[in-house]
Amino acid sequence: MAVPARRTSKTVKRKRRTHFKLEVPGMVDCPNCGEKKLAHRVCKECGTYKGTEVVSK
Ligand SMILES: [Zn+2]
Repeated sequence: MAVPARRTSKTVKRKRRTHFKLEVPGMVDCPNCGEKKLAHRVCKECGTYKGTEVVSK
């Protein structure tokens, strides 16, 4: 296995980690209630999908 010739500097390591996201990708704001929800899925807060109520709350 290849071994790095040089140790990664603090700056390089930190700059790389700026691309690490805090949130799980695929989270969007619900157009009905504004809560964060998973894209292409029924909102778990208000139970709507594409403007129609699918799950009654
Ligand atoms: Zn909602």
